[in-house]
Amino acid sequence: PPHRTERRNRMTDATIFDQYPLDQWKDPAHRIMDRFSLAGKKGFVTGGAGGLGRNVTAAWAEAGADVAIVDLPRTKETLEPLAQELSERYGVKVVPLYCDVSDKEQVDALKTSLVDELGTVDVAFINAGVNVPGDDADEPYEVWQKTIDINLTGAYLTAQITQHIMREHGHGGSLVFTSSLSAHNANFIAGGPSPVAAYGASKAGIYEYARYLAAALAPYGIRSNAVSPGYVWSGIFEGRIVPEAHDVMTAPVPMHRFGTNEEIATAVLFLASDASSYVTGTNLQVDGGYSVY
Ligand code: NAD
Repeated sequence: PPHRTERRNRMTDATIFDQYPLDQWKDPAHRIMDRFSLAGKKGFVTGGAGGLGRNVTAAWAEAGADVAIVDLPRTKETLEPLAQELSERYGVKVVPLYCDVSDKEQVDALKTSLVDELGTVDVAFINAGVNVPGDDADEPYEVWQKTIDINLTGAYLTAQITQHIMREHGHGGSLVFTSSLSAHNANFIAGGPSPVAAYGASKAGIYEYARYLAAALAPYGIRSNAVSPGYVWSGIFEGRIVPEAHDVMTAPVPMHRFGTNEEIATAVLFLASDASSYVTGTNLQVDGGYSVY
């Protein structure tokens, strides 16, 4: 059949295969660690005042990116000195921007601010999220709605402006969404800090949305992935649990401990950078092995 002939011809067409270098390390100037660099890139991080957000901002700044740290206005006293400290330490531009990611008008205004401050956006960490008290099976409508508005609709609104900036500016980029172990497991642990009914649903939605965008945005050179932290010692837990709860929560974790913000930041740096240039539509579980069972 004709398609067979065509296929055979293609298999012998060297130009097609030129795009797949076999041994890049043989070039004396080649450095694989350069693939983890974000030098010259522009990025933003939502939930930037929080534990994961500020550590990803620091990682991206160290990797050479100019970064906008985005959070609610009430975090001003945290964000301003943080931006100053990171820009001085790493010699890049780090700027605080204020936005409620669940508010469409504010997110649309954020698009303008990002372009004004950074010129464009190459990498985005779509991370702002809440676990609202009372988020259990028979939860009040308001708890469900607030969780979905911030976590899921907020991720959608933020991804919208990001892909529009990238497409309008005619370049690709990388979107990294914060999902959660609660997207993949019921996470119904007695003694845990908080139930996660709507939270888990919102995080599962984020994961599937990231996968859809991966397929739809690949033609524009835009990658889209999720990271699913397990129990990470971060703002969500600080001051909210007692040592006994620590032991209950880490019992089902094969590594029997919490993760750290930096252990998530390294994963997010990988997904943002060219080190993951062939990775899209995936979820990177960073949970000490929780999800193996
Ligand atoms: P955190 O509370 O320290 O940070 C969350 C940040 O989001 C805060 O700075 C908060 O001000 C901001 N935020 C809340 N609502 C917002 C809104 N409407 N608009 C803009 N910003 C808003 O918590 P964290 O541990 O750093 O969590 C970061 C992300 O990681 C969240 O999405 C969380 O659900 C997810 N996560 C955390 C863990 C964990 O164990 N820490 C595990 C899985 C997933």
